[in-house]
Amino acid sequence: MTPTSYDVIIIGAGASGLYCALHAGQRGLRVLVLDHANKAGKKILMSGGGRCNFTNYFVAPEHFISANSHFCKSALSRYPSWEFIAMVERHKIAYHEREHGQLFCDDSAQDILTMLLNECQGAGIEIRLNTQIDSLSADNADGADGTHFAIRTTPKANKKSTVTDKTGTTYHSRAVVVATGGLSIPTMGASGLGYQLAEQFGHQIEPCSASLVPFTFTDQIGELIRSLSGVSIPVVASNERASFRLPLLFTHRGLSGPSMLQLSNYWHTGETITINLFPMTDVSELLLTHKQQHPKQLVRTVLAEYTEDKLPKKLLSALQTHLWHDYRDTELANIKDEQLRLLGETLNGWTLKPSGTEGYRTAEVTRGGVNTDEVSSKTMESKQQKGLYFIGEVLDVTGWLGGYNFQWAWASSYACAQALAAKK
Ligand SMILES: Cc1cc2nc3c(=O)[nH]c(=O)nc-3n(C[C@H](O)[C@H](O)[C@H](O)COP(=O)(O)OP(=O)(O)OC[C@H]3O[C@@H](n4cnc5c(N)ncnc54)[C@H](O)[C@@H]3O)c2cc1C
Repeated sequence: MTPTSYDVIIIGAGASGLYCALHAGQRGLRVLVLDHANKAGKKILMSGGGRCNFTNYFVAPEHFISANSHFCKSALSRYPSWEFIAMVERHKIAYHEREHGQLFCDDSAQDILTMLLNECQGAGIEIRLNTQIDSLSADNADGADGTHFAIRTTPKANKKSTVTDKTGTTYHSRAVVVATGGLSIPTMGASGLGYQLAEQFGHQIEPCSASLVPFTFTDQIGELIRSLSGVSIPVVASNERASFRLPLLFTHRGLSGPSMLQLSNYWHTGETITINLFPMTDVSELLLTHKQQHPKQLVRTVLAEYTEDKLPKKLLSALQTHLWHDYRDTELANIKDEQLRLLGETLNGWTLKPSGTEGYRTAEVTRGGVNTDEVSSKTMESKQQKGLYFIGEVLDVTGWLGGYNFQWAWASSYACAQALAAKK
C-alpha cells in the first residue's frame, strides 16, 4: 500500500521544492514532493537559454526586489552562492562565468536538474508527478506544535497520459512547504495555487506582475522599433528607481535584451522609461561643438563618425526619420542651437512609454507574491499558520537577471530545510 503519512510534504517539484526536499531528506526527514506537471524542474530546463544561469558570484540584497527589502538578507547570508557551486563541482558539472559574475553550465541545464534529482533520490525523497492538489487543510487540534495537515489530491491527466483510475489520495504531514513558484510561463506548469493557499491561511499577496520581460509598444514607436528588429546596442536604460548599462535588443514585438528585462523589474504600467542611446557621448555638446568647428556638417555625419558609440547605420537612419527628419539635409550652421541641444538631450535620454509587456507568456519571473512580513525570514515559516512554509518565487522576492532568482530558490529552501530538521 502507498504510504500517505510524511514529516514534510512539499508542493512543487521546481528549483526550490527539489532543493528543500533534498536538504530535508538528508537531515533524516520523510519527504514527499507533489507536482501537477508531468516532469519535475521544467523551468530549470528552459533557464539561461538551456544552459541554466544557476547562480552568481556576486550576490547582495540589492539584487532583489521586495516590499520588505530586508526579508531576503538572512537566508542569502546563510547560504552564499559558493555552497551551491560546491555541489555543482561535486557532481562534476562543467560551468563557466559570463559577464557580471553569472555562472552557466557548459553543456546543458539538464545537468542541474539531474544533479537535484540524484540528490533527492540519494536522500530517499518521493516525488509524485501528475498530481492535482484539490485541498489543503490544517488541523490544529493538538495545539500549535501538533499541527497536522491533510492534502487531498487526484491524479491528473496530461498530454502524454490519460487517467483511468481517478481515485483520490489524501496525504498527511506535520509540515507543508509551498514551492509552487510564480505565474510566468503557464505552459510549463505555473499556476496561482501558492497564492490561493497563502490567502486561505490569512496571508496578504503583494500585487503580481510579469517581470524580467520585454516591453511592447504600439503606434508609430512600435512601428519604428519593429523595423529595427535584430539590432542590438549597448545603452543605459533607466527610470526613477533604477538604471542599467546593458545591451538593448530591438525585436519584432518591442524592446528586449538584458537592459530592458532588468528595467522591467522596476517598471509599473503606464510609466515611461528612458534610454540613453549614446552612453559614452554628450550628444548636445558634440553637436554644438561641431556647429562651431565644422558648420557644413550634417547631424547624421557627426553622429556616425564622431561618437565613441558606434550605432548601426540602420538605427541612425531610423532615428533620423523619427527625430530630425525636418533638418536631415540641413547644415549644422543653419540649425538653431536650441534644436541641437534638444536633439542631443533626446538621444541621451530617449523617453518612451511602453504600452505593456509581453506578459506571463514570456516573463522569466513574477514580481510580487506572498507578503514577506507574515513569513519568518529565518525559517520561511508562516506567522499565520504553524508548520506551513513558503519558499522560492511564490514569495514577494524577485531577483535581477543573472542567476539571482535561482540563488533565492536555493537560499530560501536551505533556510526552510534547516528549520524543518530542527523541529524533528
Ligand atoms: C524562460 C526562463 C528562464 C529563466 N532563466 C533563469 C536563469 O537562467 N537564472 C535564474 O536565476 N532564474 C531563471 N529563471 C527564473 C527561475 O526559473 C525561477 O525563479 C525559479 O525556477 C523559481 O523556482 P521555484 O521553485 O520557486 O518555482 P518553479 O521552478 O517555477 O517551480 C514551481 C513548481 O510548482 C509546480 N506547481 C505550480 N502550480 C502547481 C499546482 N497547482 N499543483 C501542483 N504543482 C504546482 C510547477 O509545476 C513547478 O514544478 C528563468 C525563468 C524562465 C521562465
